[in-house]
Amino acid sequence: MKKSNMTQKNNYPQDEISLNRRIPVTGNFDVVVAGAGMAGVAAAVNAAQSGLKTCLIEYFGKPGGIPVSGGLGVISGFDSQAEHCVGGFALEIREEMSEQGGFIPDVPRGAWDAEKLSSILLRHLHEAGVTVYFYTQVIDALKKRDHATHVIMASKSGIEALAAKVFIDDTGDGDLAVMLGCRYEKGRDSDGLTQSATLVVKLGGVDAAQAPRDLREINQLWTSKPRKVPIDHTVVNYLPYTGPCTVAVLNMPHFINFDGTDKAELSRARIEGTQQAEELLEFFRNEVPGFENAHIIDTGMQIGVRETRRIVGNYTLTEEDVVAGRDSDDTIARGCAPIDIHNPDRPHGNFGSPGTEHLVVSKSYGIPYRCITPKSIDNLFVVGRAISATHRALASTRYNATCIALGQAAGCACRLVMETANTNNIDVPHLQQILRERGAIIERIKK
Ligand SMILES: Cc1cc2nc3c(=O)[nH]c(=O)nc-3n(C[C@H](O)[C@H](O)[C@H](O)COP(=O)(O)OP(=O)(O)OC[C@H]3O[C@@H](n4cnc5c(N)ncnc54)[C@H](O)[C@@H]3O)c2cc1C
Repeated sequence: MKKSNMTQKNNYPQDEISLNRRIPVTGNFDVVVAGAGMAGVAAAVNAAQSGLKTCLIEYFGKPGGIPVSGGLGVISGFDSQAEHCVGGFALEIREEMSEQGGFIPDVPRGAWDAEKLSSILLRHLHEAGVTVYFYTQVIDALKKRDHATHVIMASKSGIEALAAKVFIDDTGDGDLAVMLGCRYEKGRDSDGLTQSATLVVKLGGVDAAQAPRDLREINQLWTSKPRKVPIDHTVVNYLPYTGPCTVAVLNMPHFINFDGTDKAELSRARIEGTQQAEELLEFFRNEVPGFENAHIIDTGMQIGVRETRRIVGNYTLTEEDVVAGRDSDDTIARGCAPIDIHNPDRPHGNFGSPGTEHLVVSKSYGIPYRCITPKSIDNLFVVGRAISATHRALASTRYNATCIALGQAAGCACRLVMETANTNNIDVPHLQQILRERGAIIERIKK
C-alpha cells in the first residue's frame, strides 16, 4: 500500500555522507525557470519580453516537455464547445504551427509535429533573449528564511549555482519547490496513487491510403483480440504526412501503480514501455490495414508522467471549482478540459469504466493567481501540472493549453514581483491587464 497523499518526504538511507564543497555562482538573473515544458517556455519568453534577464534550465535537450520530449505531439484544452478558453502565447504557437504545416486540426485532438514545435519554441526563446541551459538538471536550491536565493544545477560543466530574484518551477513534479521545502500532496485521497503513465510510441512506414481514418475501426480490432498492453481501447494519432510513409503516434503503453518521482519506477517504465511497444507493433502489423510494413521509429525520450506532486499554494483548486465553472477576482488563466483520469491501479479503460474518468466540463473555470504561489516561499511560482489543485481538479488543469496560460501568467507576473520582492504582494488587476494585452483570456468568452 502506498503512502496517503499527506506531505511526503524522501526516505534517505541510514548511511549519509557530507559533501563539504564550495559551489561557484556562475550567473545572476532576474528570473530563473526550472524545466522547459510548454509552461516553462511560456514563462521564460514572457519574463524576458518584459525586459527581465531570464535563464531557463532543462534536463533534456529540447524545449516543450511531454509534447516534444515525450513525443506526444498534442496540445489541447484551447476551447470547449461553447467557449474560447485559452489565447495568448499558446494560440500564437498554434497559429505558427498551422502556418508552417506542423499542425493539423482535423483529427480528434489535433496532431502536432513535435520536431517543428521544438524548432518554433527555440526560435521564441532565442528572439526573447532567454539564456537556455539544456542537458542541465536542477539538483538543489538555497533560501534565506522564506526567500529563495539560488538554484544549484549539475551539467557537463560541473555543479554550479545561479542567483535570481524570482524563480519559476516548471519541472512538472515540483522539484524546485520541494528542494525549497514547500509542502506538497500526491495522488488520490483514498491511497495516494497517481494516474498511470505512458510511453508514447511512434510507428513509421504506415500507408496512409490504406490505414483506417475512422479510429473506431482500429478500436474494434483491438477489443476483439486478447490484449497484452493494459489498455482496453486504442489512442492513435496520425502526424501531418500522407502517402506510404505516414507516422502514427500511439498513446497506449500504460504503467500502473507508478510513481513518477522515483528513479527505479521511471526505469521500470522504460523497460516495460519498450516491451509494450513491441507488443503494439506486432498487433498493428498483423491486424490493421496500412500498418503491414510499420516499424518503431521512436519511443518518448521522456516518460509520459501524468501526475506526481501538487505543491500546496495559497489556494487549492477543487473539483467543485472546475465543475461549477467558478471564477475568482484573481483569475489569471482558464481551463475547460475534461476531468481526465487514467486508472492508477488497473488497466486504462474506455470512458466510463471503473477508475477511468473523462468527465466533460460544461463551462470553463478560472484558475486563481493563488494556485501558482506556494505557501512558504515568497519569490517562487509553480506552473504546469504541479500547481495547487486536488487530484481531481489537476485531471483537468494538466492539459497543455491551460499549462501554457499559467506559464505566461507567471512570466508576466515577474515584472511586478521586481517591485515588491514578494509574489504575495503584487497588483493582480495590473497583471490581468498585462495578460489581456498579450492576448490571454481572463474572462469567459462565449463562441
Ligand atoms: C501520455 C500523456 C498524454 C497526454 N495527453 C494530453 C493531450 O491529449 N492533450 C493535452 O493538452 N495534454 C495532454 N497531456 C498532459 C500534458 O502533456 C502535461 O500535463 C503537460 O505536459 C505538463 O506540463 P509541465 O510543463 O508541467 O511538465 P512537462 O511537460 O513534463 O515538462 C517539464 C520539463 O521539466 C524538465 N525537468 C524536470 N525536472 C527537472 C529538473 N530537476 N531540472 C531541469 N529540468 C527538469 C523536464 O525534462 C521537462 O522538459 C498528456 C500527458 C501525458 C503524460
